[in-house]
Amino acid sequence: MRRAFSVLLILIAFAFTSCESNEPRTRTELRMDTICSITVYTAEDEALLDGAFDIIDETAKIIDMYDPESEISYVNANAASHPVNVSDELFSLLSYAYGVSEASSGAFNIAVGPLVTLWGIGGENARRPSDEEIESTLFLLDWHDIVLDKDDKSVAFLTEGMKIDLGAVGKGYVADKIAAYLRKNGTESAIINLGGNVYMIGARPDGKDWTVGLQDPNSAHGGYYTTVVCRDTSVVTSGGYERLFTDTHGTVYHHILDSSTGFPAVSDLISTSIITPDSTLADMLSTATFVLGSEKAVDLVNSYGVKAVFLTLSGEEIRVGI
Ligand code: AMP
Ligand code: MG
Repeated sequence: MRRAFSVLLILIAFAFTSCESNEPRTRTELRMDTICSITVYTAEDEALLDGAFDIIDETAKIIDMYDPESEISYVNANAASHPVNVSDELFSLLSYAYGVSEASSGAFNIAVGPLVTLWGIGGENARRPSDEEIESTLFLLDWHDIVLDKDDKSVAFLTEGMKIDLGAVGKGYVADKIAAYLRKNGTESAIINLGGNVYMIGARPDGKDWTVGLQDPNSAHGGYYTTVVCRDTSVVTSGGYERLFTDTHGTVYHHILDSSTGFPAVSDLISTSIITPDSTLADMLSTATFVLGSEKAVDLVNSYGVKAVFLTLSGEEIRVGI
């Protein structure tokens, strides 16, 4: 059963001015558990948008651990018994995600699946697990126990019960694929917004930069605490205010987990936005930086040479590279 829908847009790409030559064409649908909206400024027919949404569905069939028929679900069910040969596409994504797991010392951790399932945050069965349950899950979360063999493109788990979760990278990855597809089809100006995971192709139709508002965690959806001005890039935000669960004692838990403690990450950051044309990377780093907290987060984004905007719990805005 997939998680219940709970995320609204957290980034608002605004300043959609009408353009002289082509009217914007927008399609919005519920996909990947969130609102996906694509706006193109081209004279193309609806088939272009059909193709873009097909990419979302096709990619979910590879990476969605909540779909029992997906390729990653097959890996999760079998890789502890024997190495599983996977598609080139899944292998490259797993290799990339493994690298960021390593570079972030597990702040972003592709092996976090068993912990995500245990908490179930964002779904109907969310609960605060017992300390014993959390303790006995931690040993399943070491990404080093995922063996990626690049010669035969296979994945093996060294420990029974491990599970790969690509939830913190999937939307960025899909955004990159859609951006490549639209560019290939001649689109020079477009906005891809996958639940706040935004990709801007080119500049606005009037030639100016796009302005993106970053969701204010303390205001209703649509309010923003700051803006970034950019073109031809992706802006991806993670926040400890998106998918929440409140237990019977009134304690609120969020969906970004720290696999070293087994609990939702305790961070001095409330929102992390990464700005880079590599949306796959932006998605992974937005999650990693949230878990790491401000000091280590700045080091991590600098090591990747990407831009970032962080908002601390005390309301301070930290800009890196912009
Ligand atoms: P994001 O909203 O991109 O930060 O991704 C959050 C989602 O990724 C969660 O709903 C989980 O499925 C998964 N996740 C949670 N914590 C982590 C983590 N530390 N590393 C990788 N994935 C995570
Ligand atoms: Mg992410």
